[in-house]
Amino acid sequence: MIDKADKLIALTFDDGPDSTTGKLLAILKELQVCATFFLCGEHIRSFPNEAKAIADAGHEIGNHSYDHVYMNELDEEAIYKNFDRAEGAIVEVTGKKPPFIRVPYVSYSEAVFKVAKNMNMPVVGCDVIGRDWEEAVDEANIVENVLASAKDGGVILLHEPHEKTRAALPVIVNALRSRGYAIISVGDLAKQKHMTLQAGVCYNVLAEM
Ligand SMILES: [Zn+2]
Repeated sequence: MIDKADKLIALTFDDGPDSTTGKLLAILKELQVCATFFLCGEHIRSFPNEAKAIADAGHEIGNHSYDHVYMNELDEEAIYKNFDRAEGAIVEVTGKKPPFIRVPYVSYSEAVFKVAKNMNMPVVGCDVIGRDWEEAVDEANIVENVLASAKDGGVILLHEPHEKTRAALPVIVNALRSRGYAIISVGDLAKQKHMTLQAGVCYNVLAEM
């Protein structure tokens, strides 16, 4: 941890858990970073120990749907059932209700926001995007992508399974810290910015309007 951070940024990992979760958790422990993990329900069913390890390490867990479906074509009931099923898996393994959702593929529709509102869930987007899911993006590109768009109140998007993401992580964290950033979870970012996230509203950046 650093003493005099004058900027805050949230770190998020999508699409886990999977067989590599333990490696990522070890790196985050070494770096003393608590992040937010947006997990998929079906992955929690496949890797319950990994999901529990994320929660036990003090990271925050958000809802990233049950099966990472493209939601634009789904009606409200189908969207609700999908997020609710994922929430059930998260609660079963961690004992805690996820505080917000992240929509797969950013496929926002009116129905998605209505469901989020009815579930009393803020929607967390992102605006500092590593693009680590792209084949052509390597470790150095991930570092560049994140550092080029880092900002106070920003939300960094990375993904769990990639080796290159794990390799980029210490470089990103150390560079951001040397620029005066504290790297924290989404919930802590909201708290430290004195923001109450509203249900059914999407936040790409956490900053007072
Ligand atoms: Zn995803």
